[in-house]
Amino acid sequence: MRYRDAYDRGRAVLAQASVTEADTDARLLLEYVCGTDRNTLLAHGDREVTKEEEGRYRELTEKRSRHIPLQYLTGVQDFMGLEFSVNEQVLIPRQDTEILVEEALRNLHDGMRVLDMCTGSGCILISMLRYSNDCEGVGADISGEALKVARENAEKLLGARALTVRQEDPGEPGEFSGGSAGTHISFVQGDLFEKVEGKYDMVLSNPPYIRSRVIDTLMPEVQDHEPRQALDGGEDGLSFYRRILEEIPGYLEKGGMLLFETGYDQGEAVSRLMEEAGFLEVRVIKDYGGMDRVVCGILRFDDPVQ
Ligand code: GLN
Repeated sequence: MRYRDAYDRGRAVLAQASVTEADTDARLLLEYVCGTDRNTLLAHGDREVTKEEEGRYRELTEKRSRHIPLQYLTGVQDFMGLEFSVNEQVLIPRQDTEILVEEALRNLHDGMRVLDMCTGSGCILISMLRYSNDCEGVGADISGEALKVARENAEKLLGARALTVRQEDPGEPGEFSGGSAGTHISFVQGDLFEKVEGKYDMVLSNPPYIRSRVIDTLMPEVQDHEPRQALDGGEDGLSFYRRILEEIPGYLEKGGMLLFETGYDQGEAVSRLMEEAGFLEVRVIKDYGGMDRVVCGILRFDDPVQ
């Protein structure tokens, strides 16, 4: 079969199943299977697709037609210019979340300690460390399966030497490909702060924030395939913000910054919660679609004793 014919067949299958972006996904899956790029369709449409490639392509388009997200089929998603591995155990990194990372990077200084609560694939923390020097990062998540993915990403994008084992084996040779030699990252599994120790200069979190009853109205890719645990923010979508804010004084230095990603309509509610919890300079930052996306603030120093 010729390349162009395989593509035409693939996109017909996806369109038939009402996959949004059927053409793009059909092309990307074909490129994934054949190890080709966009030019191949444009310039080499007559290229032969082997029987094996054809079979694999058929299998993947069939899965995509069942609304399994493209990224779970190719196993990767770009975020902050880096390629993260993903599987069904983690939320697929979203472009909107780059707003959180960009704002955090503007406020990050060399040598800071950063905590990423609900780290998932690790995309937030790993990109922070990749684009800074000598920072120490801890990622917390309740899911051990998600942390496996996060560790794999840390190793791939920061190098084995940055990951966990510095005390036990400081001389461990390993490739170091990102961040700087003083960059360290580790992960803890637990319910929010359960296993977190010490205080941090900055805390970041993209917690689950979808209202429980809204989840079943989302596109099938999200509601049927992404981990519900990473989406469900309780009845009003705010339960993780409340729980994090309740415990944050034990883990964030006074004067330290907290940054939350929020849902498009949660900026005001989360700002209020942060102000009530003692944060100053609370701000809402919008995404490129003009929607509320990030709320951040500075933890107030206690009032001096009279
Ligand atoms: N921190 C991860 C992300 O932003 C996972 C977030 C989550 O599981 N709610 O993609």
